[in-house]
Amino acid sequence: MNILVLVKQVPDTSAIKIDKETNTLIRTGVTNIINPDDLAGVEEALKLKEKYGGTVTSITMGPLQAEAMLIELMAMGVDQAYLLSDRRFAGSDTWATSKILSSFIQTLDYDLIIAGYQAIDGDTAQVGPQVAEFLDLPQVTHLSEIIELDGDELVVVKKTDYELDTLAVKLPALITTRKEMNTPRQMNAFEIWNLDKKKVMIKTFDDLSIPLSDIGLAGSPTKVKKTYTRPVTTKAPKVEMNEVDAAKKIVDLLYPYMEVKSHG
Ligand code: FAD
Repeated sequence: MNILVLVKQVPDTSAIKIDKETNTLIRTGVTNIINPDDLAGVEEALKLKEKYGGTVTSITMGPLQAEAMLIELMAMGVDQAYLLSDRRFAGSDTWATSKILSSFIQTLDYDLIIAGYQAIDGDTAQVGPQVAEFLDLPQVTHLSEIIELDGDELVVVKKTDYELDTLAVKLPALITTRKEMNTPRQMNAFEIWNLDKKKVMIKTFDDLSIPLSDIGLAGSPTKVKKTYTRPVTTKAPKVEMNEVDAAKKIVDLLYPYMEVKSHG
């Protein structure tokens, strides 16, 4: 099975600033990480490859600095990677980004496309579904599990706040993954040793078959009118109690946000 995983390098959202002129995010000089939902997708792709054979290819659209992320993914076991990078892509909203990605994907041979459910900076969750639409592929979003490959169908579990469905989707298809699905593997010595046999292939607008008017700000129907930081208006409640009760209260308040790890 040949699997394409769409990955996005995202800025550390706590360090982000906004260009007031263009209302776009300033990404230079900010620490970057691999979008967590995409890392889950890479892990699922590698597990599928281990079970059924094939290849795993990562694709990102972004600045040249995203090459480091792709090398990291290859050190985890990804076979090859494409970086779509061109100044003419700058200003692309989710629509234009999806156009660029799908136009390039059309040139590849694949059975399955995996995208993250959403990126932690843009947060729209639009790119995966739009790529599926542009490529005329069936899609299943919000996955919590991939059960098996059954003939030419992938059996998956879709989990949202309202539903838990087991679905079979005919390949080729696009699925979106969430970070809760798995714990991504680390880079390993064997793959790092093999890195010289792998490469990041850089592609530009000239490798695509779409007009210039489809990309960048010109091809982006989203117009950001205004951005602002929401002022904090609510005051934290003040409660007086002894240390023991205070400790219990803090644990109760934090418990829903804590990741409970088993050491068994
Ligand atoms: P989501 O839709 O939440 O992402 C879902 C999944 O899609 C991800 O988990 C990942 O698997 C995949 N995915 C998303 N983006 C990519 C990607 N680039 N490559 C591969 N896979 C991907 N961003 C810039 O970097 N430079 C700009 O100049 C710029 N200009 C913009 C101008 C406007 C008017 C707007 C509205 C946005 C702009 N953006 C720019 C942001 C950019 O459009 C989004 O970051 C991008 O389209 C992805 O949207 P998202 O973050 O909501 O991703």
